[in-house]
Parts: sequence; C-alpha cells; structure tokens
Amino acid sequence: MSHDRIVIIGNGISGITAARHIRKRSDVPITVIGNESEHFFSRTALMYVYMGHLRYRDIKPYEDGFWPANRIELKHGTVARIDTVLKCVQLADGYTLPYDKLIIATGSASNTFGWPGQDLPGVQGLYSLQDVEAMEGNTAGIQRAVIVGGGLIGVEMAEMLRTRNIAVTFLVREDTFWGGVLPEEEAGLITRHMKEHGVLLNFNTELEEVLAGPDGRVRAVRTKSGEEIACGFVGLSVGVHPNIAWLKDSPAVKTDKGVLVNAYLETNVQDVYAIGDCVEFQQHPDPQRKNIEQVWYTGRLMGETLACTVTGERTAYAPGIWFNSAKFFDIEYQTYGRVPNRAQDGEAAHYWEHPNGRSALHLVWNAESRVLHGVNTFGFRLRHEVFDRWLREKATVDHVVEQLHEAAFDPEFFTRMEPAVRASFTIGKHMTA
Ligand SMILES: Cc1cc2nc3c(=O)[nH]c(=O)nc-3n(C[C@H](O)[C@H](O)[C@H](O)COP(=O)(O)OP(=O)(O)OC[C@H]3O[C@@H](n4cnc5c(N)ncnc54)[C@H](O)[C@@H]3O)c2cc1C
Repeated sequence: MSHDRIVIIGNGISGITAARHIRKRSDVPITVIGNESEHFFSRTALMYVYMGHLRYRDIKPYEDGFWPANRIELKHGTVARIDTVLKCVQLADGYTLPYDKLIIATGSASNTFGWPGQDLPGVQGLYSLQDVEAMEGNTAGIQRAVIVGGGLIGVEMAEMLRTRNIAVTFLVREDTFWGGVLPEEEAGLITRHMKEHGVLLNFNTELEEVLAGPDGRVRAVRTKSGEEIACGFVGLSVGVHPNIAWLKDSPAVKTDKGVLVNAYLETNVQDVYAIGDCVEFQQHPDPQRKNIEQVWYTGRLMGETLACTVTGERTAYAPGIWFNSAKFFDIEYQTYGRVPNRAQDGEAAHYWEHPNGRSALHLVWNAESRVLHGVNTFGFRLRHEVFDRWLREKATVDHVVEQLHEAAFDPEFFTRMEPAVRASFTIGKHMTA
C-alpha cells in the first residue's frame, strides 16, 4: 500500500490497539496524539495507584522505548479541530498535522448534572490520571466522603477511600445497588459486602446540592429530602458520556451522543473513523446491544478490527458475545451474554448463592428451548473461552449445568462449589417472568 499517514486522536486502549495492529500489518507512518499522558496506561488499574499497590509506571503495559522501536510517533497535545477538506488536524497550540486516514479514539468524559456546588474544591469524578492526582489532594486529611451514584466507578472510589479509613456514604437514586444493571439478588449481595467494608448506602436518595464551608471547600451535601450529610469530599460517579465536545468546531463529522459510525467503524466522512468509548453505532451489529458501549475489551476489539480496514482489508466489527468483569471490593464479578436486571417474558432464571454470601451464580435461559442467554458470577471466575463457546453454540442450560466443571477457572476452589450449584439447580425453583 502507499505511504499514507495515519493519525490517531487518543492514546487509550482503542487508539493504542489500533496503532499496534496497524504497525503489525504495515509500514505506514503512524502518529498518536494524546492529551492525558505521554504514554499509554491501563485506566482500569488507576485505583491501585491511589491505594499504593502499584506505581504509575507499573500500570504502563509497554516500556517507553516500545513506541520509537515500533515507529509509532507519540505527540502530546489536544486536538481542537479537524479539517476534513484539507485533511489535517489542528492542535490547541496551533500545530497542524496532515492525515491520509484519521482515527478518532477520544474516550469518555464523566457525567455531571448541573448540581449547585458541583465545581467546589473537593468535588470530582474519577476518569483520568489527573483525576487520581486531584483525588490525592482532595482527600488529604479528610474523615468523611459522599459518593453520588451507584455504579462500578463509585465502588472503586469507595474502595480507594476505605483504604485510607475515610468513612463513605453512598447516595443511590434507585432502590437497589446498580439497579439498572444488576438483578436484585446480586445487588443485595454487593450491598451486604459493601456494608461489611464499612460503606453506608442510602437508597432512594438524590443529591440536591453540595454545600461550601467558610474556606470555600465542600463541607456537606444536601439530599432532595433535605438531609444534610457532612463530608470533606464528594465523588461523582453518575456515568460517563462519549467525549465529543471538542468536535463542536468540526461539524463535518456527524455526531449524536457519540461519533456516529457504521458497522465498519467508518464515520460519514471518507477516511475518518472512530473507535472505543466515543463511538455511537448508527445500528449496532448485534441488535440486542446498545449503540454505545463503554468497556475496555470492546475498545480493544474495535482497534484491532479497524487496523485491518485502514491497511486495506475492509472488515466489519464483529462484537461477539457480551462480556464484562469488575471487582466489588473483594468480590470478583463476571457477566457473559445477557442477564437482564428484571425477568423478561419467555425467559427463566436460576440464582444460586453460597451460604457465605460471597459467591453466587445466576443463569438465564429461554424458557421454551432452554438455550442459555447469559450468566452472572460473583466470587469466583469462569473460563472465558468456555462460556463464550457455550453461548455462541447456543448450549442449553441443562448442558451448561451438567458440564459446569469445564468452565472452572480455579478447579480446586470450584470443585467444592459445583455440587451445590448443580443440586440447587436440580431441586431449584426457577424464576420466570
Ligand atoms: C476508574 C475506571 C475504571 C474502569 N474499569 C473498567 C473495568 O474494570 N472493565 C472495563 O471493561 N472497563 C472499565 N473502565 C472503562 C474503560 O476504561 C474504558 O472503556 C476505556 O478506557 C475506553 O478506552 P478508549 O481508548 O476508548 O478511551 P480512553 O481510555 O478514554 O482514552 C482516550 C484518550 O483520548 C484523550 N483525548 C480526548 N480528547 C482528546 C483530544 N481532543 N486531543 C487529544 N487527546 C484527547 C483522552 O484524554 C484519553 O487519554 C473503567 C473506567 C474508569 C474511568
């Protein structure tokens, strides 16, 4: 192929994966522009830096010399505008860089809802490296914190704060934890676990405003019911949205909630593509999935896929089986396929929980055909490739329960639980909608 220049905006997992895979496939000049850090780091490990388990340099998966050795040029700066006619990007400092093919991979930004006081010192979200640095300063010497919103990033913030013995109160708008995603059994398990870690959860509670003390810093929050909770720090974890505000001066690239792309990750402008958290599919290749997916592995997969297209082998994004994992303090969570938070028509489900209240398995299947739709696990890990295969091959729930040992990640631990899971399934009362 010709020596086109590929420019990538954003050096997160999606942009960097695209760069690495393009280099594997071609000699084309590649420039990656990022405004957060000089080098790629693992965003999912940021919390461990605050907790002192890892240093920043430990969460960089590649040595700094990897990039020049692979002729991937890294440029630190903020892209302010794309000129799709002259085919160049303009940085905030005036620098202009031409492209032949352009990849937008600018990730997400934290949501805020215009609460009075949300910009006070001591109030922040958690997304970037700069947020973790700010959190260091904002939580120094404080005793009490409030976290607004019950999602994964909120739990991480709670865990980070508890390692410094800071008292944590969660304000959760719904009546269960992460109620938009987790079925109530799992939400209950996590709620109990967080309580064991000294986290106070206030359900059906919404933030009204953040109040300042005489020093101008946060001193308390007031809830919609008028309760005042004293605190020296407020963590906002009410979701993220595609980071596209910077595209306002580049109207040629069509956006809605995110950068609009087709199944090939192509935008409406020729030679301009988008991948990762900032993407909104016009129509997701899998109609059961959302048009915006803000998780690590989908960004990586999009980066890999697009590397084929921009090096001459036009390839559609094939998302495969939905998968996600996280950790709620000590409890690992995995989900494969589709486990809705509320029972759906035509589906049956079975929930098993270990008497210790720290391990659980939730299976959901088609009530008629018995084909498995999804599984949630807590407190133990399953083998990705096995559940991926079962879901792809449309295995029945009976086959899955019978062969569960095949999916054991930690066979020694799993052997102790498997008979209980199977027995509960055999005699169990399955839930139907
Ligand atoms: C604390 C935390 C924990 C998480 N844990 C998990 C997890 O356990 N599992 C999971 O699946 N997902 C997790 N996620 C989500 C996951 O990190 C994201 O889905 C992923 O990082 C998205 O990758 P990306 O490359 O699309 O965007 P990003 O990682 O956001 O990278 C985009 C980069 O582009 C830069 N940029 C933006 N605009 C510009 C511009 N105009 N010019 C130059 N540079 C720009 C940004 O500063 C950023 O560095 C977590 C997220 C957070 C915040």
